[in-house]
Amino acid sequence: MPGLSRHNRWLQRLGDGMRRHATAIRVVQWLVVLFYGGLLVLPALLPLPDSQARILDNLTLLAQFLFWGIWWPFVLLSMLLFGRLWCGVLCPEGSLSEWASQYGKGLGVPRWVRWGGWPTLAFCLTTLYGQLISVYDYAQAALLILGGSTVVAVGVGLLFARGKRVWCRYLCPVSGVFSLLARLAPVHFQVDEQRWKDNAGPRLPPPNCAPLLDIRRLRGASDCHACGRCSGQRGAVQLIARSSNQEILHATEDNLSPWDARLLLFGVIGLAMGAFQWTVSPWFIALKQSLAQWLVGHEVFWPLQDNAPWWLLTHYPALNDSFSWLDGLSIVLYLTASALLLGGGLLILLRAAARLAGDPALYVPLSLTLTPLGAAGLFLGLSATTVKLLRYEGLLLEWVQPARAWLLLGAIVWSLLLGWKRMAFQGIPLPRRSAAGVCLLLANALVGYGWWLQFWGWN
Ligand code: SF4
Repeated sequence: MPGLSRHNRWLQRLGDGMRRHATAIRVVQWLVVLFYGGLLVLPALLPLPDSQARILDNLTLLAQFLFWGIWWPFVLLSMLLFGRLWCGVLCPEGSLSEWASQYGKGLGVPRWVRWGGWPTLAFCLTTLYGQLISVYDYAQAALLILGGSTVVAVGVGLLFARGKRVWCRYLCPVSGVFSLLARLAPVHFQVDEQRWKDNAGPRLPPPNCAPLLDIRRLRGASDCHACGRCSGQRGAVQLIARSSNQEILHATEDNLSPWDARLLLFGVIGLAMGAFQWTVSPWFIALKQSLAQWLVGHEVFWPLQDNAPWWLLTHYPALNDSFSWLDGLSIVLYLTASALLLGGGLLILLRAAARLAGDPALYVPLSLTLTPLGAAGLFLGLSATTVKLLRYEGLLLEWVQPARAWLLLGAIVWSLLLGWKRMAFQGIPLPRRSAAGVCLLLANALVGYGWWLQFWGWN
């Protein structure tokens, strides 16, 4: 397109190249499927590693490190850098679901599948279940959760919409989180709607948009899987650089759902913080102790036994790691309380901010301004596993604590700036903006305090 800057011309060529080299992308997808399958299945077939085992001489530990230490934190980071490129180009579950759908029944997508709450519900349930069976620590637990999700993804592919990714669009437990994070990406496939309507060429075959998007009306990176299949269509679609703030600052009610705010406040921030910190929390121990005292006082002893199967509660007696029923109950209560109290506290503050700003409908857009902080929290929590595994290997990693502090501070400043700019963009007068800004400051401080407790306060 004429008038493009040099780096945007380069990006446009990159997007068009993705379309041209769809076959090569397909090959890469299958290689990722093989790698993912190997990483998931092989360690689950091997004996549990003993205490002397190390990452470099034990396949189970190596797989655990690659999976939870590298793969997941950097998939999250990739959302912030490239949008949902992971979903469209590399995700093994999406590839398998789309492949299966070519041979399936091709049924229409029922209304209940399109319910907007599935990604939030699925994220919350898998997070909770993952903690109960220690998904980060045991290969068979990872195989059960991730492999189970892959089997369901293939099943959904076999049922609905030929050649599409119904699973990824409506049901995947992380699609909601990815959709939130991709809003911050500095690149996206931009659609010029007028050019699309003009249809002045080039004449290219219609692209298969696997997540079933209306390409003509595409606004932003949150739903687009960045697969590049529509790049250059009608001369109206191109990969282009943008400000990382753009999508959140310009979000309107048409492209926002209350589920976005619920997932961010209660799931990505509230529940995830509980999941990452219950193992180091003195509040968790106090909760468990008071429940145990109550049970013993009432002569109810069976919840103190650790006889649940491993697929219900962590159960590895050989490693001295088994959860009692009381442990399971305490985890459920702690995570639920974390989601409700932290998420509820944030909801009250953001609703108050929207009211003080004079526009109660601003609550959802203002909630999304906490996305940088939510993303930083997920990255900090997941990379805590990376750090833990590397420290087992004898690495000191003294730079980690200052790096965490800077990341957290940077995310808070970014979130506050987004909130302030969003209100300015809405034309809210300065006195109202300042009053609402106090609520945003409190919301950011509340989340920051939670992370401070985990990494500094409770150490
Ligand atoms: S709009 Fe659809 S086809 Fe185009 S890049 Fe996004 S996911 Fe791919």
